[in-house]
Order: sequence, then structure tokens, then C-alpha cells
Amino acid sequence: MDSRDYILLEELYSAQNYHPLDAVLTKGKGIWVWDVEGRKYLDFLSGYSAVNQGHCHPRLIKVVKDQAKRLTLTSRAFRNDQWPLLAKELCDLTGFDMVLPMNSGAESIETAIKTARKWAYKVKGVPKDKAEIIACANNFHGRTVTIVSFSTESLYRNDFGPFTPGFVVIPYGDIDALRQAITPYTAAFLVEPVQAEAGILIPPPGYLREAKRICAENNVLFIADEIQTGLGRTGRLFACDHEEVRPDMVVIGKSLGGGYYPVSATLSTRQILGVFKPGEHGSTFGGNPLACAVAREALRIIQEEKLIENAAVAGSYLLDRLKKIKSRHIKEVRGLGLLIGIELKPEAGGARRFCEELKKDGLLCRETHENVIRFAPPLIIKQKDLSWAYKRIKKVFKQLS
Ligand SMILES: *Cc1c(COP(=O)(O)O)cnc(C)c1O
Repeated sequence: MDSRDYILLEELYSAQNYHPLDAVLTKGKGIWVWDVEGRKYLDFLSGYSAVNQGHCHPRLIKVVKDQAKRLTLTSRAFRNDQWPLLAKELCDLTGFDMVLPMNSGAESIETAIKTARKWAYKVKGVPKDKAEIIACANNFHGRTVTIVSFSTESLYRNDFGPFTPGFVVIPYGDIDALRQAITPYTAAFLVEPVQAEAGILIPPPGYLREAKRICAENNVLFIADEIQTGLGRTGRLFACDHEEVRPDMVVIGKSLGGGYYPVSATLSTRQILGVFKPGEHGSTFGGNPLACAVAREALRIIQEEKLIENAAVAGSYLLDRLKKIKSRHIKEVRGLGLLIGIELKPEAGGARRFCEELKKDGLLCRETHENVIRFAPPLIIKQKDLSWAYKRIKKVFKQLS
């Protein structure tokens, strides 16, 4: 079978809820992936930051094999010898007191929402069923009905109603809007420190710090969605660290599973996550020993291979170079660490055609929304490979000008 055959099968049998680039991948190693014809590509997306450690990391292969032979799933009806260690290691790494494990990012966002609501009723004293959560326009927090209830993207919402009430949406980066939206019923403010899916939107300097201060002043929980930005992507452990902001709750996922396994978690203090009693929330696969063994190794790799430091250094190198590209199509180049976006002018004909062209040159990346090309290579990438990628990006901009 060749690429065309696989594509035809997928078109025929798969729900068409994605519009992938036509690279049919079959193998990955580090920053590289290969398609079924043996063509080699540099992965400049990293599974939306789920593969920060690079593809098929040898240490993860070993851990997966060892743990797969020993024990994979207990459910939390019983205890296992991996979850307590992951829980402690996550708290040691992040400075939080407690953690609740899930699988997908969306599930851990749901966890944060449920936690904030319960906290509002049990601790803050909000009247029953009145809790409000403030979110930002252009947010992306996942795909469940509750989460798309406060999305402002019609594509994510159309025909999926009726929606979950209890959410208020304000403009992103607008501190006055936050101040005005808070009421005595406000439980939490849920925010992405960088809006990646919206097009790598970085809020104005001081925004997160001021938002956190206003939340604290009003006894409102500040919840950071660091599913994509966390664990090093932006050159700090958390993107909030750039402003020395300590959220009340942090949600992580994606690279926590090292590209091997869906693992997500909600981190917080004892006062907040302590609101849960047995049976009130859970997941069959959440905290399973295979997931935990993978996540423990994924975290060790991030630390021991200094991926956070590399994201900072390599990211600013790439950003500097990209900013030097002269093209009438480019509106702005922006980024933080190795999360970088090139926003094109509306008349550039959309980001997709640039991604298609880059693919022909061996670089896999994706547009986000119409006009932004997103670059997010694995955090293990070296300068020489970035410079390889840069040459191709520069060439494609020349070609399409
Ligand atoms: C990917 C992502 C999610 C959702 O994670 P899933 O694992 O796809 O459910 C939520 N928030 C942000 C910021 C993300 O990037």
C-alpha cells in the first residue's frame, strides 16, 4: 500500500473531523518522522506539544516495555505502586500540594471546572448552582460539551448545543474586562498564558500578574491551562513563570505522556483539591500504572536533558532568524520559547498553502486558524536542525512571494 491507498481508506472510513496534511507517517525518531514511501520530515509540530521529548525516546521505549510486562491497569479501585510516586514527583517539581490524574487534556480541564465549582460552594460560600467561571475569547480548552460551551469559535460550537451554563467570556489580555466581570458568584478565572490554538497570542506584559492579583483580591481562583505551554514549551517550566505568577490551579497534559500515552493532571493546593471526597470524581484509566510510569520518565527526560533551557535558547534563536525574513506576506512573527507563530496578511492566501509547500521541502507544520503558521518542534531540537528548517522556511516564503 502507498500513501494514496491509506488516504483513500481514511477518507472512506474515518469521520472527517480533521483535515490532515497528506503525509502518511509510519516511523519516528527524535525530531524526525518518515512516511510510508520513506520520505523523511522534520516534525515542526510535535503533536501539538505532546511529543516535546521527541519521537520514540529510547528511555520511554524501555519504561513502556518494562511497565507493560509488569502491570498496566488497576483502576483506582485498588492502589498501585506508580501513581503515588508520580503524584509526589509532580508536586516536588511544581510546588503544588496535590494532584488529580486524568487522561486527556479536556478531562483535566473538566476536573479544574468541577474543582472550582465545588470550592466555590464549600469554601467560598457561593449559593447553590450560582458559581460562575470567567474564560477568555478565542480560548481553546478542549472539545467536551461543557468546554465548548464557553468557546467563541463557531466551528467548535455549531450544532452542539444546548450548552452548559455558568460561564462568562471576556476579551483576552484585557485586565479591565476581568475586573468588571467578577461578581460575588465568581469561582474562577480560566486562562491560557499564551493562546496557542488562537494563533500564538501572547497577552500584554503584566497581564497575567495583574489578573492573578485581581483574582486573589476577590477570592477567585486563577486557573492556568498549561496543557500546551507547560512542561517547558515556552522556555520555562510553566508559561506563567515568565511573569512569576503562581496560579491556584494548573492543568497539564500533552507532553506529560511523552507522546506515548494520554496523561493529564490538575495540580493545586490542599485547600482547593482537598474538596473532593471519594466517589465524587474519577476516571477508569486516570492514574493507571502504565500512564504513571511513562509520565515519570517523561518528566525526568525534560529535567535531565535540560529541555526547558533548550526551549528558551533554541526558541529565541529561531524567533530572531524568522523575524529577519522579508516577505510582503508576513504581518507578524511572534513566540515564546519554542512556540512560534508567523501571522500572514489576509491577502497571503492563507497559511495552509505555506504548510503544503514546506511539507514538500521536508518540514511538517500546520496552520492554526486561517492565517497563522505554527512552529513547535520537539524541545530536543538542536541549533543546526533549526537552521536547516530556517533555510526551508525562508525559501518557501521567497517561492510564494
Ligand atoms: C490540546 C489542548 C487542550 C485539550 O487537550 P486534549 O488532550 O486534546 O483533550 C486543552 N487546552 C489546551 C491549551 C490545549 O492545547
